[in-house]
Amino acid sequence: MLPPVTSLIVTVDGPGGTGKSTVSRAVAEKAGLPHLDTGAFYRAATLAVLEAGADPSSTVEVTPIVAGLHLSQEDGRMYMDGRDVSEQIRGEDVTAAVSAVSAHPEVRAILVGEQRSWVEEHGGRAVVEGRDIGSVVFPDAEVKIFLDASAEVRAARRARQTGESLDEVLDDLNRRDRLDSTRATSPMTVPDGAVVVDTSDLGFEEVVDRLLELVGAKS
Ligand code: C5P
Repeated sequence: MLPPVTSLIVTVDGPGGTGKSTVSRAVAEKAGLPHLDTGAFYRAATLAVLEAGADPSSTVEVTPIVAGLHLSQEDGRMYMDGRDVSEQIRGEDVTAAVSAVSAHPEVRAILVGEQRSWVEEHGGRAVVEGRDIGSVVFPDAEVKIFLDASAEVRAARRARQTGESLDEVLDDLNRRDRLDSTRATSPMTVPDGAVVVDTSDLGFEEVVDRLLELVGAKS
């Protein structure tokens, strides 16, 4: 356990299935920092687009819907216009459409603004996880981490979590990785100055301890 960290921003980026969410949450808790899951913002925006019957790939249809939303995250729960959508945003329909919605620069500009405000409202210190956090949202963060793992290991972890078949999960992860790393605006990359931690052969506690060491070294 570290003494509570008073001023750090810790960014955790990386593809799906690296254990980013569970690891970030544990690190935040042990370091006494608020935790922000930015993927949940993109997922909630996608849910709103699907509920409105809009085309996820159409900028003109998607942008006004996302601009009109009130999104918030408290105690790990995601709220859209005051409604708790934490379970719904994990649905297959949302997962299938989220990379298309998050590829629109207009959507990213809105959600990046919301994410920065969230951190400011929570004291300007946090563990923030996503795909573009160390590169775009908080490029001056004191601690930047990029979690990685082989596609096979990531798919196996996801399949255990969701109960889907390994092939299905591997296809979906590969498809989303491709879209997330080739989009024109804020593609997923290893941010400048980030420490890459490959979690393929590490246990959960080992990854958390490694990140806490990096946080401890800066606090
Ligand atoms: O992390 P999670 O799987 O919930 O993220 C869902 C999707 O949201 C990603 O596949 C990506 O398309 C998008 N995303 C993003 N930028 C972030 C976080 C998530 O584009 N900072």
